[in-house]
Amino acid sequence: MARNIGAACRRCRRENLKLYLKGDRCYSDKCSFERRAFGPGQHGQARFKKLSDYAVQLREKQKVKSMYGMLESQFRLNFVKADRQKGVTGENLLVLLERRLDNTVFRIGFASSRNQARQIVRHNHILVNGHRVNIPSFLISVGDVITLKEKSRANGMINENLEAVARRGTPTWIELDKDNYKASIKALPNREELTMPIQERLIVELYSK
Ligand code: SF4
Repeated sequence: MARNIGAACRRCRRENLKLYLKGDRCYSDKCSFERRAFGPGQHGQARFKKLSDYAVQLREKQKVKSMYGMLESQFRLNFVKADRQKGVTGENLLVLLERRLDNTVFRIGFASSRNQARQIVRHNHILVNGHRVNIPSFLISVGDVITLKEKSRANGMINENLEAVARRGTPTWIELDKDNYKASIKALPNREELTMPIQERLIVELYSK
């Protein structure tokens, strides 16, 4: 399956924002954004240029795409789907992105980043309602129960990630039963709980041109 394999830290520096793409490293003093808080490349330290409206919209879209580790075609498909739904398109888009199984596994705390969550899903560690699901873009629904496969419960990395859940917190739409490696989806994700600075309106404007 196609995915963005570009340097993660470079993307943070490009967007001038910590996107938390590398799990625990993002919280340590090894974070490249903390060490080199300027744009990547030869002109990264050049003086700030005023961006056109188009460039501002484009950067916002690229930022959200990077956060969720998606390629343009997948991201655009999500936008089309969000646009067809009732309600505010930008919010619909963010809810669709949050409902992805890889994101949900990250939010539950089985993984320290969405990238790692995608790998956990692809490697068949996850069951949804008792059935193996290895498709990162699978959309979770209210009432779904997500569990870690019995054989995967001794996995040191996943256990370490679960220990760190307290630091990151669990969104209110997920009910986590840490001892049984199980999480229930109580409600659909909501826009208010997304604390990263996202202006979804700009993405809608860009795609609506
Ligand atoms: Fe971004 Fe994390 Fe790399 Fe820091 S360590 S630059 S937050 S991906």
